[in-house]
Amino acid sequence: MAYSGKKKSQKGKAYIRKIKPLIMIYGTRSSGGKYRLVCAGCTNIYNEDRLKCPNDSGLLRTDYTNKRIVLKDAPGMGKFHDWLPIHEIMTTDSGPVTYRSMELSAELGLNNLFISFNGYWPEKGANIKTCSFKELEAFPTVQKIKGGYNSLVLASAGNTARAFSHVSAMTGVDVYIVVPSTGMPRMWLPEEPSESIHIIQLGKNCDYTDSCHLAERIADLPGMVAEGGARNVARRDGMGTVMLDAAVTMKRMPDHYFQAIGSGTGGIAAWEASLRLREDGNFGNELPQLHLSQNLPFAPMFNAWNAGRREIITDIDMPDPKKLIHEMYADILSNREPPYSVPGGVYDALISTRGTMYGISNGETKKAQQLFERYEGIDIFPPAAVAVASLIEAVNDHKVDSEDHILLNITGGGVRRLEQDYSLHKIEPESFAENANVPLEEIIKRKVLA
Ligand SMILES: *Cc1c(COP(=O)(O)O)cnc(C)c1O
Repeated sequence: MAYSGKKKSQKGKAYIRKIKPLIMIYGTRSSGGKYRLVCAGCTNIYNEDRLKCPNDSGLLRTDYTNKRIVLKDAPGMGKFHDWLPIHEIMTTDSGPVTYRSMELSAELGLNNLFISFNGYWPEKGANIKTCSFKELEAFPTVQKIKGGYNSLVLASAGNTARAFSHVSAMTGVDVYIVVPSTGMPRMWLPEEPSESIHIIQLGKNCDYTDSCHLAERIADLPGMVAEGGARNVARRDGMGTVMLDAAVTMKRMPDHYFQAIGSGTGGIAAWEASLRLREDGNFGNELPQLHLSQNLPFAPMFNAWNAGRREIITDIDMPDPKKLIHEMYADILSNREPPYSVPGGVYDALISTRGTMYGISNGETKKAQQLFERYEGIDIFPPAAVAVASLIEAVNDHKVDSEDHILLNITGGGVRRLEQDYSLHKIEPESFAENANVPLEEIIKRKVLA
C-alpha cells in the first residue's frame, strides 16, 4: 500500500495509469523523478511507493536519480535530502553526529575510531531528544504520510514508539503504536504528549513480535497504514544517514561498521548507504565490513550466521525465545522475525561486505557500558553497549587493525544528559489488549470502525 493519503493516492494512481506510456518514453518517475524502487530479489522496478514486491519477498531499495550526493543547507538529517525518499527538505535539528574518539580509541589502541552518536548530547551537536537512532527513521516516515488522510500504525518495544510519538507530537500526524508491557517504562517524551498519539499496551505474556502481529491487524482497518518496519525505505534511508554523515565527516567510507542489531534494519541501511557512496565515487570503492552484534542468550541471527545458514531455524537458533528474551540485558534487541533471510536482508549484507557477527553476554555488555561512559563521558543505552563490547572483542581477536577507519554506531544514549535540560512526560496508554488476537473494536476508539 502506498503511504500517501488514500484519497489522493487513488486519484494519483488512475492518473499515472493513463500517462504510463509517456512516463516510459521520457523516463520520468511518479516519485517526482527523485527515485524509483528496485526489488533486491527479482530486480523489478517500481515507480510508485510501495512496501512489497508482488513477485517475491525481496526488500525494495531506493535507486536515486542523483548518484552524487550534494549536501543541503539544513540543520540535521535534512542535509542528506538527495538520498531520502521525501520531497520537502526536513528542517529538524535531529540527525546523526560523527566525531573522532580520543579517550576510548586510546584505551583500545585504535588510531581512527569514529563514533556516530545518536542521542542527546548538545555539547557535541547531538539533538536527538528521544535518545535513539529510531528518530532517524521516524522523521522521514512521518513526513511521507503528512498531508494525507491516513494514520500510521506500528509496533515497538520502546525506542521506536518514543521516536514516532515525538514526531507525531511535532507534526500532528496520528500514530497508533502497539507496545509490549515490558516497553512501557520507556514511554516518555521530552514534551507534553499530544492527542495524535495512541498507545495500545499489550498483555504481560506478549513480546515485541506479538506487538507486530496486532499492529498488522490494525493496519488493515480503513484509514490506517502500516509503517512497514524494515520494508519501509524511508525508515532504512533515514537510518542510512549514519553512514552518510560518517563518510562526509571522514571524507571516506570507514573500513568497519559496528552496530548492535535486533532486526538488523540499521545494518542493512548502513550497507545500502555504502553502496550509494561507492557509486558516488567520492568516498572510496571498498564497502565497509559489517560487524553486527546480538545480546546473548537471544541471538538468532548470530547463531544462523555462525552455522553458515541463510535460514533461521527456530528450534536451533532460538529455542524457548520468551525465556531467552527475559534474560537479556539489552532486551530491545529481541526480534523473533528479523529480515535476515530475505533477498537484500541481513544475510546478503553480511555476505556482500565480508561481515561478521558477535554474540555478547550481559556481563560483557555492562562492562562495555561502564568503559564507554568513563572514557567518552556520556551515558549510553544497553544495545549501544553491546556494540562497544563487540568492538572490544574485535580488537582482542585482531579482526581490526590499529590504523583501520572504524565507525562505531552508538545507537542510543544521553538520557541522563537530557534529564538535566528537559522534564520528561510519561505517555499513558489509550487502551489495553490482553493478546494479539483481541477484537479490534475493544482497543481502537475511533469512527473508522463504524
Ligand atoms: C532498534 C535499536 C537497535 C537495533 O537496531 P536494528 O538495526 O533495527 O536491529 C539498536 N540500538 C538501539 C538503541 C535501538 O533502539
